[in-house]
Amino acid sequence: MGHRIFPVVGWAERGDGRAEGHGNSVPRFHITWGTGPGVLEPFLTRLAAHRGTGRITLATRRAVEELLVEDGRVVGVRGSLLAADGTPRGVASTREVTGEFEERAAAVVVTTGGIGGNAGLVRQVWPGDLGTMPEGVVHGVPASVDGAGMLAAERAGGRWIHRERMWHYTEGVRNWDPVWRGHGIRILPGPSSLWVDARGRRLPAPAFPGFDTTATLRHLRTTGHDHSWFVRTPAIIAKEFALSGSEQNPDLTGRDWGQVLGRVKPGAPGPVQAFLDLGEDFLQAGNVPELAASMNALVGASLIDAAELGRVIRARDAEIVNRFSKDAQLTALRGARQYLGDRLIRTAAPHRLLDPRAGGLIAVRLHVLLRKTLGGLETDLGGRVQRGDALGGSAGGAVPGLYAAGEVSGFGGGGMHGHNALEGTFLGGCLFSGRQAARGVLADLG
Ligand SMILES: Cc1cc2nc3c(=O)[nH]c(=O)nc-3n(C[C@H](O)[C@H](O)[C@H](O)COP(=O)(O)OP(=O)(O)OC[C@H]3O[C@@H](n4cnc5c(N)ncnc54)[C@H](O)[C@@H]3O)c2cc1C
Repeated sequence: MGHRIFPVVGWAERGDGRAEGHGNSVPRFHITWGTGPGVLEPFLTRLAAHRGTGRITLATRRAVEELLVEDGRVVGVRGSLLAADGTPRGVASTREVTGEFEERAAAVVVTTGGIGGNAGLVRQVWPGDLGTMPEGVVHGVPASVDGAGMLAAERAGGRWIHRERMWHYTEGVRNWDPVWRGHGIRILPGPSSLWVDARGRRLPAPAFPGFDTTATLRHLRTTGHDHSWFVRTPAIIAKEFALSGSEQNPDLTGRDWGQVLGRVKPGAPGPVQAFLDLGEDFLQAGNVPELAASMNALVGASLIDAAELGRVIRARDAEIVNRFSKDAQLTALRGARQYLGDRLIRTAAPHRLLDPRAGGLIAVRLHVLLRKTLGGLETDLGGRVQRGDALGGSAGGAVPGLYAAGEVSGFGGGGMHGHNALEGTFLGGCLFSGRQAARGVLADLG
């Protein structure tokens, strides 16, 4: 297809600490050279070629609200026409409605993504085993990913299954330069930060940074507060603080080797420094009492006891100089540095947080960031959306004319990940289910 991969493979989602348990056994987080735009590029090139020969017409600025159904068959879509908008990528486009539209087709393939941009809908289907949904969340997907396509397909007779399955991050920070409402950025954390809950209590294993996303979320929902904290040093920030999203990684997105090599230099990369300077969740202090005071000031409540936070930090620091450490996180940190890729650009050399040479303390307030929808429209292997009954059960067979692919179909089939997932495994299901749906349409239309 023309995709190229950045040669240093990352080790996201290290797992729950058991050999046979959740998590990656080897580093396998591949980054597309060019990030999101690099993923799209080969497809856009082909699309342009088909448009050039008149085989494809692109109809953009149309928000689909309903699927047209005639005699039980989906025959088209209807919705609002949005005002033309020339804003570049990374800037919110206008939602101004200028009219209505209707399009008819022999096959309708729904690829409208998940529901993570719609907190109300996520709340309706939030799973009981994750406790209650936090009141304060940030959004890790654009507002347009609001589940409208999912709901329209359901109204047209399709079956939305495993709706309680979802994958959200616990390391969200508010974007100081938001593109959409409540825009959050996920920190892709290296393994060194001390992670404490809203009251300053250290999170238990395996809730270490980058280890087990859903187990960490489940634990945090028992703490009685919506936020938690990373406590780290400038050295940890500089080496381990990676941000998710194409605009946060201009070196990889712009395929600029000069900038990429800058990652091994001391100091924080530009986008990270911008968060340190401008992000509302970032606090810096010279000592623990000052840090605790600013943490309490930020949340408007005296939740952190400075003496207790100091005790937790000193206990962790004491294990840094203990070769026989029983601290599972520090043992894992040393293990991570056996891998050259992590050693070069993803893990700071183990050091005490209170080491005067480490440059002070940084606390980062973390929010739950809504991202992925693991359930979705139930399909067969040809992307054909299966028919549901009024109670959400199966009515047997497919809805004629209706297909789905990508996140709206739970990355394929209605939930191919099961109840959990592994970081970085989502685009694969989108691409594969897209191909399957195309083959299904071709087989049906001949
Ligand atoms: C910041 C970020 C980083 C990510 N990083 C990774 C990663 O490293 N690895 C990985 O595997 N996955 C990653 N993901 C997840 C992955 O990008 C998504 O799962 C994937 O893009 C979903 O693809 P999709 O085509 O199904 O839906 P989307 O990419 O969400 O596209 C849906 C499209 O449908 C449009 N739409 C929605 N509703 C309507 C409507 N009613 N009418 C008309 N159009 C509509 C939307 O505007 C959008 O253009 C990341 C996601 C985000 C947001």
